Amino acid sequence: MERKESIGSVPGIGKTTKGEFAKLGIETLGDMLRFAPRAYDDRREERLLRSLSVDDPHINCRITVRSKSYFPSKRGRTLKATCTDDDGNEIDVLCFNRDYLDRMLVTGSVWFINANVEKNRGRYSTSQFEIKRRKEEIGIGKILPIYPLSGNLTEKIMRTASSFALSTLSPIKDELPDEMYGKYNLVHHEKAYRDIHYPKNLSDVEKARRTLAFTELLLMEINAIREREVRVGMTRSVVTPIEKKLISSLPFSLTPDQEKVLGEIRADLDSKEKMERLLQGDVGSGKTLVAWISALHVISKGGQVAFMAPTELLARQHADKAAELLSKLGVRICFLSGDVKGKGRLLLIDALKKGNVDLAIGTHALFSQDVAFKNLKYVIIDEQHRFGVEQREALRRKGLDPDVLSMTATPIPRTLALTFYANLEISTIKTMPEGRIPVKTHLVSEKKREEMLDAIEVEFKRSHQAYFVYPRIEGDEEENLRDVNTMFQELQKRYPEYKARIVHSKLPEEEKLESLNLFREGKIQYLVSTSVVEVGIDVPNATVMVIEHAERFGLAALHQLRGRVGRSSIPSYCFLVFSGTLTDEGIRRLKVMRDTNDGFKIAEEDLLIRGPGEITGNRQSGFLKLKFASPVADTDLIAITHDEAMRIVREDKGLLKAENQVLRASLAKS
Ligand code: ADP
Ligand code: MG
Repeated sequence: MERKESIGSVPGIGKTTKGEFAKLGIETLGDMLRFAPRAYDDRREERLLRSLSVDDPHINCRITVRSKSYFPSKRGRTLKATCTDDDGNEIDVLCFNRDYLDRMLVTGSVWFINANVEKNRGRYSTSQFEIKRRKEEIGIGKILPIYPLSGNLTEKIMRTASSFALSTLSPIKDELPDEMYGKYNLVHHEKAYRDIHYPKNLSDVEKARRTLAFTELLLMEINAIREREVRVGMTRSVVTPIEKKLISSLPFSLTPDQEKVLGEIRADLDSKEKMERLLQGDVGSGKTLVAWISALHVISKGGQVAFMAPTELLARQHADKAAELLSKLGVRICFLSGDVKGKGRLLLIDALKKGNVDLAIGTHALFSQDVAFKNLKYVIIDEQHRFGVEQREALRRKGLDPDVLSMTATPIPRTLALTFYANLEISTIKTMPEGRIPVKTHLVSEKKREEMLDAIEVEFKRSHQAYFVYPRIEGDEEENLRDVNTMFQELQKRYPEYKARIVHSKLPEEEKLESLNLFREGKIQYLVSTSVVEVGIDVPNATVMVIEHAERFGLAALHQLRGRVGRSSIPSYCFLVFSGTLTDEGIRRLKVMRDTNDGFKIAEEDLLIRGPGEITGNRQSGFLKLKFASPVADTDLIAITHDEAMRIVREDKGLLKAENQVLRASLAKS
C-alpha cells in the first residue's frame, strides 16, 4: 500500500471512526505513521498496586478474583469483582457493559490485567482495563504507544491503526540523503518509524524522535528557503518625495536598521507578490516610524492604508502621533474603533468607501462588517502577537488581499525565527536610536522598598515622571497583594506634592485617554496602573518604571513594561519589586531582566521557561504544526537543519542532483 491510502483501509475503521481520526489530522496511512505517541506504556515489567503514582496510575500484573457483587446500572446490573494482586492489595474491577465477564471471572480464578486505576475513599477501582488469561495477551513484556485521542477513539484502535500502517507500508524508504544518517547520528527511517511507535527500549525512542524531528525541520526549512528565494530579484524601489519630506522634517536621522527595513518593505510593496512581512524590533527601536514612512510610500501612489492596534488606547495614541507627523503632508487620516458610533461613524465609513481617507487608524473595528475601503492596498498590524489569527482571516473574508506588515516587539529567538513563521519574510531592527541609555534595572526586596520610594522622589524633583504597575486593580481577601486602587491612595500620601491618575482596563476609554494625555503633557507626575500600559505608550519624559509583585508577570510583559521608559536620552530606571518567597525559577527570571536589555535574549529565556505557543499567542505558527521537533529542546537541530537547508538550496535549488532525489520525494510526501 501507499502512504496516501486512506486510514479507512485499516480493518475495523468505518466511517465514524474515520471522522474521529480526521480530527487528529490523520487521513492517510502516512499520517498515522507520522502521528507521534504522546507517551509510552512500559509493560516490560509488572506493576502492582503498590507502584501506583499520580503520574502513572496504571497497573499491569496478575490478579486473583476474591469475591463478586453487583450494583444496579442503566442496563440492569453491573458486576463488581473484588480482586487482589500478588501483594494481597485489593482492587474492585467494575465491569460496565461487559456482561460476558460475569461468566469468566469466577471466584478464585487468576487473570492478567492492565488497568487505569482510580482511588476513591481509600479503595482502588478500575473500569478501564484489559483482562486476559495469559500474560502475553495483555502485552506484558512490551512497550506500547499511548496516543493523543479524540472522541470515541481508544488506544486499542489507534494501536491497530499504527501497527497496520507500519506493516503495510514496510519497507519504509529513507527520507534523507544517505550520508546524513551517519553525519548526524540518525537512524534509518524504517527503524525510526518502528521505534517511535513500538520501541524495544525507551532509549530508542529519543533517537527515532531526533531523526524524525531532523527530517521535518529540514524539509520545512528547505521549503521556506525555496519559497523565499522565489521572491528575490525584486525591483529596486524609489523613495517617494513625500517620504523624503517626512524624513527630512524629523529632528533625528533614521538608524541604519530603519533604513534597511524600509528598503525591504518598499521593495515588497512595489513587487507583484503580496507582502507578508514581520517587522520585529525591540521596544523603542522605532518600528512605528517605519510604519508611517512605508504608509506614505503607498499613499503617494494613491492607495489606502489601514493601521490596526490591539487596544483603543494605543490606537488613539498612534492616531495623534500620525496626525502630528502626517497631516501637514496632506495625508487624510481617520480614527475608527468600536467606540466611534452614530453619525460620526457613518461619515467615516462613507469617506473610506469613497476614498476620501488615506490612512485609517484604529482597532480591529477597522475590519468590521460595515466598513469598506475604496482601494485598500496596505495593512499594518501593530503588536501582532496580541491578535489572533481571526483578524487576518477577517481581512481575507472581506475579499481584501492587501500587503500586510505585522509588527512585534516580542522578538523571536534568532535560531527559531525561520521555522517560526515559515511563510513570513522577516525584517529586524537591532540597533536602537542613537543616544539611548539602557534602562538600569534594580531588583528590590521589601526591605529596600523605602529606599526606592526615596529615589523616585528625587526623579520627581527633576521633573521626571513615573509609572507604578500592579498585578491587580482591587485588593483580594485571599492574596495579600498590593493593588492599583489601594496603592493610588498610599502613594498620594507618600508623595503629597505630586499628582497621579489611575489607568486600568475597567475604566471608560475617555477617562483613560484623559489621564494619559495629562501624563504626556506633564500635568501629572505618575500613573498607577495595571499592565495596560504595557504596549506602545510613548512618553519620553517618564524615567521610572516600578513593577510591584514583579514575579507575577511574564518576562515578555516585564520587558514591554520596561520599554515604556528609556525613551529619550535621560537615564531611566526600572524597579522590579518582589516579595520574599521566590521560587528558583522566579529568581532566575528576574535576574534575566536585571542583566539584559536585549529583547532577543529575554525571548530566548522566555521560550525555555514557557514554550512557544505562549510567546506567539499564535496557533498558526509553524511550531505548532511540528509533529516531532520541539522548538525548546531542539534548538541545536534547528540550527543544523537551517544550515543544511541553506547549503542544499544554494547548491541545488531544484533538488535535481542524484543525492537530493530522496529529499524531493520526501517533500512531495510531506
Ligand atoms: P517602537 O514602535 O519600535 O516601540 P517607536 O517607533 O514608538 O518605537 O519609537 C520610539 C521613540 O523613538 C519615538 O519617540 C520615536 O519618535 C523615536 N525614534 C524613532 N526613530 C528614531 C531615530 N532614528 N532616532 C531617534 N529617535 C527615534
Ligand atoms: Mg510600538
